[in-house]
Amino acid sequence: MSREKWIGLLPFYLLVVVLLLGAAHIGSDAITTIAESLPVQRERTIIIDAGHGGVDGGATSCTGVLESNLNLQIALRLEDLMHLLGYQTKMIRREDISVYTEGDTIAQKKISDLKERVRIVNETDNAILISIHQNTFSDNRYGGAQVFYANTDHSRELANLLQNTLISTLNNGSNRQCKKADGVYLMKQIENTGVLIECGFLSNPTEEALLRSDIYQKHICCVIAASVSVFIDNA
Ligand SMILES: [Zn+2]
Repeated sequence: MSREKWIGLLPFYLLVVVLLLGAAHIGSDAITTIAESLPVQRERTIIIDAGHGGVDGGATSCTGVLESNLNLQIALRLEDLMHLLGYQTKMIRREDISVYTEGDTIAQKKISDLKERVRIVNETDNAILISIHQNTFSDNRYGGAQVFYANTDHSRELANLLQNTLISTLNNGSNRQCKKADGVYLMKQIENTGVLIECGFLSNPTEEALLRSDIYQKHICCVIAASVSVFIDNA
């Protein structure tokens, strides 16, 4: 299917997801109950990676919030929405932890953590990885989401769709383009389709406040969930 047609379908998906968001207010247990009663159970597994965690907090925002915590909040919201859309999910982490399995020093634990994330992704057949991160930069004027893709089948198409949809819905006027994830261990080692989404800049005070807010986190998750669903339906 052409990209134009994908984009044409997006408003429909966004509407569906926004309607489902109402349900997101009633809590995870209720969402699980609703999701289990839905007739649709799709074949792809969505692996959601909340970047960093535990000893590795990632970046620190301009108000002192750790990236790892925001990544986890957004990842858990995304999990709910993907369930509501009928997808199985696998979470790399659901708490503030590093997922290392060995190592004594922090450096060794970080290496083990990365290898474990790769192992989880590569052991899952027919999966799509969505890795959630936040950006930061020395100049606090910079903002906007940016999507990076693995060098695996269809990752670039998914990243392109996500990037364009994030710009048209949340980052109007942004000229950011998706990029290959050079230098990111997880993205270089995975064999499945995968993208890493830097949701915004923690160094930009306006965007940082948005990224900490419930409503903006929900908006981001709506855009990601709708885009992933459109991508899968048209793959
Ligand atoms: Zn990060």
